[in-house]
Amino acid sequence: MIQELRHPVSPLHDLHGRHLEYLRLSLTDVCNFRCSYCLPDGYRKPKHAPAPLSLEEICRLVRGFATVGLWKIRLTGGEPTLRAGFEDIAATIAAVPGISRVAMTTNGYRLSERAGAYRAAGITAINVSIDSLIPDRFSAITGHDRLSEVLAGLDAARAAGFDCIKVNTVLMRDVNDDELDAIVDFVAGKDISLRFIEVMRTNDNPDFFTRHHLPGASVASRLERCGWSRIAHQAGAGPAIEYVHPDATGRIGIIAPYSRDFCASCNRVRVSASGRLHLCLFGDGSVDLRPLLRSDDQHDELVNRILCLTYGKPSAHRLHSGNSGTTPHLASIGG
Ligand code: SAM
Ligand code: SF4
Repeated sequence: MIQELRHPVSPLHDLHGRHLEYLRLSLTDVCNFRCSYCLPDGYRKPKHAPAPLSLEEICRLVRGFATVGLWKIRLTGGEPTLRAGFEDIAATIAAVPGISRVAMTTNGYRLSERAGAYRAAGITAINVSIDSLIPDRFSAITGHDRLSEVLAGLDAARAAGFDCIKVNTVLMRDVNDDELDAIVDFVAGKDISLRFIEVMRTNDNPDFFTRHHLPGASVASRLERCGWSRIAHQAGAGPAIEYVHPDATGRIGIIAPYSRDFCASCNRVRVSASGRLHLCLFGDGSVDLRPLLRSDDQHDELVNRILCLTYGKPSAHRLHSGNSGTTPHLASIGG
């Protein structure tokens, strides 16, 4: 359960001295893809699913987090771009005083048509999930034969002038591990960064995890052999282990939640589409902030609640002992 503790001073930090600067906000848990590690049977609406936060509720929520010093928001989901009024929501968030960075993570659906509109709404950073550059394999992983469309979306994002573009690739043994060099080469010449993400065990995917989990360390040694060098962890950079190469503009990051000290640099909290605060992706509980989002008059109460709850952010996940918390899949709380 999430513990509520008294927070001594702002800006936002937790009991373990970690500075919290980054909110991942899910706009919907609906998704149109069927990624084999996430929603292999496609999205199914849970019984009694609460409605997602309205634009007004989102605005109050973001104002609350901005007041305590949080400056970066990532819009995620499910597939965030399926949310009606996505651009209006992004533009409203980008206009909140104190929010200086709005980012998004997408499966690339309709990105080729909408990249300019996302950028015009004030989103400056975009992560596009691409797990394979082989059309049939992409289709087998996601349930959609849309690789060329997603790649066109990546080009459209570059043309639209995002200042940070990343490709997210989930590493999977015997699924795409033979493509790692090709994926590195694909981004290396393009001013695009790459994030290799270890497949994470959730409540819904233990068998998939056992069959396909590949430690990030295996990629690290390959990168080092190809002239990539690890850079020192930068303050506020989050838990990715980052690599640079003298001939590449983009960086490569490895998100390895099973590595030692992964949680020590965690600088984020998550809020689900219906307004539940999750302090850890793999935690046991969440707290409903929605009752504090009904009117602007509740701002101070919301701020106090955020301060108290976030102060008690758990020091680390318990994945090493096989405990993935209560998260069924990452689409449910915003990965
Ligand atoms: N639908 C969007 C997308 O796929 O980019 C945004 C939401 S998705 C949950 C965010 C990121 O989490 C994606 O890059 C996805 O590949 C990753 N992801 C989902 N489930 C995962 C898992 N079990 N292990 C590791 N990464 C996962
Ligand atoms: Fe949808 Fe993203 Fe999950 Fe894939 S990873 S099923 S695109 S939410």
